[in-house]
Amino acid sequence: MKLNKAELINHLQDDIFGIISEEADRLNLECYVIGGYVRDIFLKRDSKDIDVVTVGSGIDLASAVAARLGKKAFLSVFKNFGTAQVKHKDVEVEFVGARRESYNRDSRKPIVEDGTLNDDQNRRDFTINALAICLNKDRFGELVDPFDGLADMKKGIIKTPLDPDITFSDDPLRMMRAIRFATQLGFTIEEETFKAIERNRERINIISGERVIDEINKMMNSKRPSTGFILLEKSKLLEIIFPELQALKGIESKEGRGHKDNFFHTMAVLDNVAEASDNLWLRWSAVMHDIGKPATKRYDKKIGWTFHNHNFIGEKMVPGIFRRLKLPLDTKMKYVQKLVGLHMRPIVLAEEEVTDSAIRRLLFDAGDDIEELMILCEADITSKNKEKVKRYISNFKVVRQKLHEIEEKDRIRNMQPVVTGEEIMKMFNLPPSREVGEIKAALKDAVLDGVISNNTEEAINFLKNYASERGLVIHGQEITK
Ligand code: ATP
Ligand code: MG
Repeated sequence: MKLNKAELINHLQDDIFGIISEEADRLNLECYVIGGYVRDIFLKRDSKDIDVVTVGSGIDLASAVAARLGKKAFLSVFKNFGTAQVKHKDVEVEFVGARRESYNRDSRKPIVEDGTLNDDQNRRDFTINALAICLNKDRFGELVDPFDGLADMKKGIIKTPLDPDITFSDDPLRMMRAIRFATQLGFTIEEETFKAIERNRERINIISGERVIDEINKMMNSKRPSTGFILLEKSKLLEIIFPELQALKGIESKEGRGHKDNFFHTMAVLDNVAEASDNLWLRWSAVMHDIGKPATKRYDKKIGWTFHNHNFIGEKMVPGIFRRLKLPLDTKMKYVQKLVGLHMRPIVLAEEEVTDSAIRRLLFDAGDDIEELMILCEADITSKNKEKVKRYISNFKVVRQKLHEIEEKDRIRNMQPVVTGEEIMKMFNLPPSREVGEIKAALKDAVLDGVISNNTEEAINFLKNYASERGLVIHGQEITK
């Protein structure tokens, strides 16, 4: 992990660093690349955003750099924050003047004063995020690492540079960032730092929901998202920000019978899904799939613990949770609702005999999300009983095979009714009514049960029989398609 100066210089080959260096020297400004970009050089991670700190005006330096780069560069100045951004090709450089920060208790907005590099490093969140590399020509490539962040990177440790209670109380978002970095990097949060998160947890309430969910989504996009939620639970932040997930934790016993811990089960399902798919919303479906369990838990003397209809209750809970967590209330939410609602269906199929009719219904209800529903359901098998797991996996193979065959044959996934409600109203001379809905449903059932194929001719024949059986009068209109 340790890199000498020549090796570090190798990582600063992009023309942009040379230009910043020359402009800083010309303006007589001390200047460093700092934070995440430096950390990621040592951790061999890709990063595009470059943060530059200068002892003096960040805006002056940014303007000079943008002028040098010419028309292809875009400069944005944020006067209120004393920062400026230069975009050039696919790199984004953020410039800021070195600062000292002091906080008051009610807000995470600090009082900012000009400061030295050292002041600026003191205000950083973690030792591994406080490293700086000098860009001025005579010190180009020199590492400034006052808190031995390099050693913490080697040990895989997240630790605040100063007293963690002050660091977290000043800006409680840092608690979320600690957990997010631990999850993304596979690092451990140092003990004193972690204890301070627990002590300061209530301070999270001064942070906007948007910022909190940003960090959670970064966790969710990591290789093992469970790490983040387990740390949130341990630090007791989870009960503040996501009590419905917290409620899944724990095992209740009656008459010597317990149920599984649904929090840890959910975590296992989430990691299984994350291994199979990058889709953030499928991952959210995993987090939410059993969210209705606490509300539906019952103990039955004969059969033990039950969670009847937890999928439907869960589906209903999704919008409220999405709204509170500032997750999007659009098609993504609908998708999560749908998967939560349907997540028991393939399991039931895998337990019982698989009929064509049940497969058609599943295809119809899941539509194009069927593949992802199957991923969720397979991920849901977390039993420790090897025989049981083997049986489920082999039954799921049968279900998948059948889904494939029937879709090839009947094209159910995006099935549109060949006879519309309008046409049914005309045919039977009916106003919009429940009856029309019932006739439509009967037609759909006939297709899904394989009684008829999904074509106009068979549909009309079916409707004629349906009418005569019920003494309905069919008006002469031909259905034309
Ligand atoms: P990533 O870009 O992968 O999210 P990063 O470390 O670059 O990680 P940024 O949010 O881009 O994170 O911030 C850049 C740097 O600014 C950090 O490395 C850290 O030094 C500092 N920083 C960011 N947010 C905070 C904060 N809330 N408190 C203290 N320092 C912070
Ligand atoms: Mg960054």
